[in-house]
Amino acid sequence: MSTFKDLGLNEDLLHAISDLGFIKPSEVQEKAIPILLESETDLVALAQTGTGKTAAFGFPMLEKIDVDSRTTQGLILSPTRELCLQITNEMKQYGKYCKGLNVVAIYGGSSITDQAREVKKGAQIIVATPGRMKDMISRRLVDISKIQYSVLDEADEMLNMGFKEDITDILSHTPDDKNTWLFSATMPKEVATIARKFMVDPQEITVGNKNESTSNVSHEYYLVNARDRYQALKRLSDANPDIFSVIFCRTKRDTQKVAEQLIEDGYSAGALHGDLSQNQRDMVMKSFRNQQIQMLVATDVAARGIDVDDITHVINYQLPDEAETYTHRSGRTGRAGKTGISMVIVSKSEVRKIKSIERIIKKEFVKKDIPDGADICEVQLMSLANKVNTTEVNHEIDGYLEKINSLFEETTKEELIKKFFSVEFTRFFNYYKKSKDLNVQASQNSRDDVQYSENSTRYFINVGSRDGFDWMKLKDFLKEILELGRDDVFKVDVKESFSFFNTDKSITPKILEFFTDYKYEGRFVNVEVSEDRGGRNRNRGRGRKDDGGKRRSSRGGGEKRFSSNKSGGNSSNRRERRNSEFSGGNRSDSRRSEGRSEGRKPRRSDSSSGEFGSSRPRRSRR
Ligand code: ADP
Ligand code: MG
Repeated sequence: MSTFKDLGLNEDLLHAISDLGFIKPSEVQEKAIPILLESETDLVALAQTGTGKTAAFGFPMLEKIDVDSRTTQGLILSPTRELCLQITNEMKQYGKYCKGLNVVAIYGGSSITDQAREVKKGAQIIVATPGRMKDMISRRLVDISKIQYSVLDEADEMLNMGFKEDITDILSHTPDDKNTWLFSATMPKEVATIARKFMVDPQEITVGNKNESTSNVSHEYYLVNARDRYQALKRLSDANPDIFSVIFCRTKRDTQKVAEQLIEDGYSAGALHGDLSQNQRDMVMKSFRNQQIQMLVATDVAARGIDVDDITHVINYQLPDEAETYTHRSGRTGRAGKTGISMVIVSKSEVRKIKSIERIIKKEFVKKDIPDGADICEVQLMSLANKVNTTEVNHEIDGYLEKINSLFEETTKEELIKKFFSVEFTRFFNYYKKSKDLNVQASQNSRDDVQYSENSTRYFINVGSRDGFDWMKLKDFLKEILELGRDDVFKVDVKESFSFFNTDKSITPKILEFFTDYKYEGRFVNVEVSEDRGGRNRNRGRGRKDDGGKRRSSRGGGEKRFSSNKSGGNSSNRRERRNSEFSGGNRSDSRRSEGRSEGRKPRRSDSSSGEFGSSRPRRSRR
C-alpha cells in the first residue's frame, strides 16, 4: 500500500491532503496518479462513484500546470452545475497551498459576464458544464487554445444527457497534442466511441467491477401496494430519526410532488431536479450540505455525482428504469469508509427488477418489513431518551428551577420520567394507533382487483406522448393524482396528443368531478367519457378504433403542450399545491399541525422530526 508521498506528489499538495485528512490513496488514485504524473498520456479510467476520481485527476493536474502563468492550461468538463461547483471546490481545496492558483467554474444559469471576468483574471484551470462552455467559446470569452490537459468527468452521464456534440465542439478548440483523461462509472458504447475519437492510445485503468456497488452499502427492499408508497416513505423516515437521506424518484414531477408532500407533512425536505431554477437548486443543495434538510428528493440526473458526506440512507421511492442507475443511486451513501443503507420501496409488479439489480451489483437484497406504529413509537421514544440523556444542561433555566421543583415536590423520579416521556409518547401513539400494516405478502394473489369488463368506463384525456407520457407514466400519473390503487387504471393507450384509459365504472363520477377544473402547469387537463369501449374490445392490434382525434378537448386543446416552466423548489408553488394536496396520501389519518408551516427544520439530531413533528401540537400557548 503506497502513500500519497510514494505516488510522487509535491509538498504543497501533500500539505493540503493532510489538511483534508486523506490518509492513503484510494484505488483509482493509486493507479491513475503515477501514470498521469510520469507520462504525457491519454487515460480512460473506469471507477464507480465515490471512489475518489476527482483527486485522481485533480492532483496530477495541479502538479502539472504552471501556476506562474495566467494561461488556461486545464479544462474539466462535467455534466451538471452541481458537479461543476463541487469539483471546483475540491480543486481549490487540493490546491490551497499552490500560490497563484486560480480555478474558475463555468456553468449555466449564472452571470456569463461575471464568469468571463473571473477567467480573464487568469484561470489556469476551468471547470465547466458543456453548454455554457460552448457559449463562452463562441462569444470568445475564453481561450482554450493552449489547454494541455482536458478531463471528461462522468463521461457516461454527459453523453446520456446529450452533450456529445457540445463536447466535440469544445474539444475542437483545443490543441491536438493535449492529453485527455476520461473518467466514467460505466463504459457504454458511446463512451468507447468518444475515447476512440479524441484519444491517442489511451492507457486504461478499471477499479473493481465497474458495476459493483460499494461494499459499505447494504441493500433492503420493502414490498407495499403502490398506493402506499408515500406512507411507506414516511414510516421509513420516522423509524430512522437521524436520517440524512437522498430520495430518488423517476420523474421531475414525482420528485417535486414527494418533496412538497413531505414539507407539508412537517419533514425537512427539499426537491432537486432540472425544472428548478439554478438559484433554487443552489439553495436546496446548500441546505442539504449544511444538513438543514434531512431528506433531499432528487432525480437521477440532478443528483449524479453529488458528493455529500454522511448520507445515511438512499431511498428508492421508485426504481430507476435502468438497473445500472441503481448503482449510482446507492453510491450516494456508504462513502469514505462509512456504512450506508439503500432502501427500495417496491410494488409487487416490480419485485422482479430487484432480481436483475442483484445480478448487476452482485449483492443480495434483504427483504424487510415496513415498521409498524409500535416499532416507530419505540424508536422515537428511545431516540428522545438518548437525547435527553446526552443533553448538556442549559443553566439559563436555573432561575426557573424553584418554581418547577415545587410543582414536582410530590412526584417520584419514576413518576416524573413516566410523565415526561408521555408528553411525547402520547402524541406518537395517537398518530400511529390506527395505522395499518403496509406490507404486502409476496405470495398474496393480486388478480382480484382487475376487471376488463362492462363494469369499466373508457375515458379520453387530452395529454399524450408529446407531453412526455408513455402508458406507464400516464398510468402512474393518474393513479397518483386520483389516489387510485395499483390496478385501478387500466388499458392505457397513449397517442401523440391525447390518450385513453379505463377505470371501474363505480369511480367514474369521482374522476369526472376531479377533472372539471384540474390544471396542470397552467393548462387544463380535460377528461371525457369516450364512446369507444376499448375496455371490452380485446383486440390489441395497432389499428384499434379508438381514434378520438376529432373529439379533442373542448377546452385547453389537445394541441397545447405542457410547458415545463415549473418553478418552486419548496412548496411555494400554488398551482402545484392543489395537485399535491389532492394526492396527499395521509389525508385521513394525518393531523397536520399548525406547526408545519413554521419552517421547522429539525436537524439530524432532532428527534422531533418526521410524522411526529407534523402532528405536534403547539405547546405553551394555553
Ligand atoms: P467520485 O468522483 O469517484 O464519485 P469523489 O472524488 O467525489 O468521488 O470523492 C468522494 C469523497 O471521498 C470525497 O468526499 C472526497 O473528498 C473523498 N476522498 C477522495 N479521496 C480520498 C482519500 N484518498 N481518502 C479519504 N477520502 C477521500
Ligand atoms: Mg466525481
